[in-house]
Amino acid sequence: MSAPSVVWFRDDLRVADNPALHEAAQRGEPIVCLYILDDASSDIRPLGGAARWWLHHSLDTLASSLRDLGLDLTLRRGAASDVIDSVVAETGAKAVFWNRRYGEAERAVDAGIKSSLRAAGIEARSTQASLLFEPWTVLTGQGAPYRVFTPFYRSCLAQAEPRHPLPVDDEVSAFDGVTGDDLADWALLPTQPDWAGGLREAWVPGEKTALERLRAFLADELSSYVAEQDLPAQDATSGLSPYLRWGEISPFQVWHETRSFVASLDRRTSEGATAAEGASAFLRQLVWREFSYHLLFHWPQITHANMRPAFDDFPWSEPTDVVMEAWQMGRTGIPLVDAGMRELWQTGIMHNRVRMVVASFLVKNLRIDWREGERWFWDTLVDADPAANAVNWQWVAGSGVDAAPYFRVFNPELQATKFDPHREYIRRFVPDIDDETYPPPLVDLKESRKAALDAYASISKDR
Ligand code: FAD
Repeated sequence: MSAPSVVWFRDDLRVADNPALHEAAQRGEPIVCLYILDDASSDIRPLGGAARWWLHHSLDTLASSLRDLGLDLTLRRGAASDVIDSVVAETGAKAVFWNRRYGEAERAVDAGIKSSLRAAGIEARSTQASLLFEPWTVLTGQGAPYRVFTPFYRSCLAQAEPRHPLPVDDEVSAFDGVTGDDLADWALLPTQPDWAGGLREAWVPGEKTALERLRAFLADELSSYVAEQDLPAQDATSGLSPYLRWGEISPFQVWHETRSFVASLDRRTSEGATAAEGASAFLRQLVWREFSYHLLFHWPQITHANMRPAFDDFPWSEPTDVVMEAWQMGRTGIPLVDAGMRELWQTGIMHNRVRMVVASFLVKNLRIDWREGERWFWDTLVDADPAANAVNWQWVAGSGVDAAPYFRVFNPELQATKFDPHREYIRRFVPDIDDETYPPPLVDLKESRKAALDAYASISKDR
């Protein structure tokens, strides 16, 4: 058998529009499809519990899509560089392909592997797959990275149209004789206890579901997206974030499916016109995802350090177990906060509007460091994303580069009146709201808001 090409899958768990797989297919040699669980040996942040659950199912469905093409998914665990070396040695592979990642630790791993492969005379190629615009291509007139969303967004729109999705190549053959682990042995699923019942009810991971979800969203929800995207009781947003996080759908697919859907609309009708507005608003959100990665790429410290150093002096409160547990388990006595936190715990997701409210409550009313909240989200969200999570937490906290000002404290009661006027969302997740056992408010909203503003006034703004 001729020397194979290796396709190293990472955050791109799909066969459609997968440039690394496509390049390997074009090369015409047998293919080894490889996924490496490297959860200990590098600085890459270990996955949280909900993400591990998702990954298990995602790998399972990827293996089945690959089987449909006649390919096998080989699973290996260990340091990525060691695994790549041994797979290359075992198979005699002459080329390794992968799609790019943008985190600092991820880039360090990938760059090390690329140079050692090349030094050994093996072709190593990385491709653009998970971002529409490479972070180093969207720059200000002075050649600097953007710090503010709106000009970044305008600059993206002024770029050439993102490429069309690539076809699935079915003229591919598997390389026989490479062995791997059993997915079950990786123990990605929780067992004692099995807390994933709510996740199983809420989600079907995999690229087939992702595409169906996108198409159903375009057909049924686009025209109400602008009016309803902030209403947590409505199923008005795409629900695509975990699929995008794991690369079960690419932003190129989302972009072009949406654009062709809009092209098919009759904009002279009011339905057509509102759907077209919905499409622009939806693609703008997709560009927020791009912006998060742009910030992560240019300011890697954004995952853990305040982007505004003045916040290093902020007098945060001690995150005691009692307070953290009340917030995490949705027992703060503030109904919208509790509904959001329970939605997260049960289903692995939380509506965007409510994420802002629970984050503001933690960082401002409870005056707890945003990193505590970010960590909890990292562990419990199925869409826990290395860029979007930290960027959004810093946005709410006021410590980010393009952030909401600290003094903008969300009032969860007013937010509930405005965005959940019939308390439908609150009642769905907090059915015990009228019971005697439902806790009284953990803090007084007015007093804690004032204390937060006083604390903010105490830090020097010009650092
Ligand atoms: P839609 O409204 O259908 O939007 C389409 C896509 O655009 C989303 O799937 C997502 O990929 C992207 N997007 C939308 N809003 C944002 C945003 N504010 N920032 C970046 N990308 C966005 N999103 C994550 O994907 N992972 C996270 O870990 C994450 N953590 C967050 C933490 C906080 C404190 C906050 C306030 C927001 C966070 N978000 C995160 C952003 C946002 O809440 C989710 O992307 C959104 O709720 C996903 O729902 P959807 O797919 O139905 O969104």
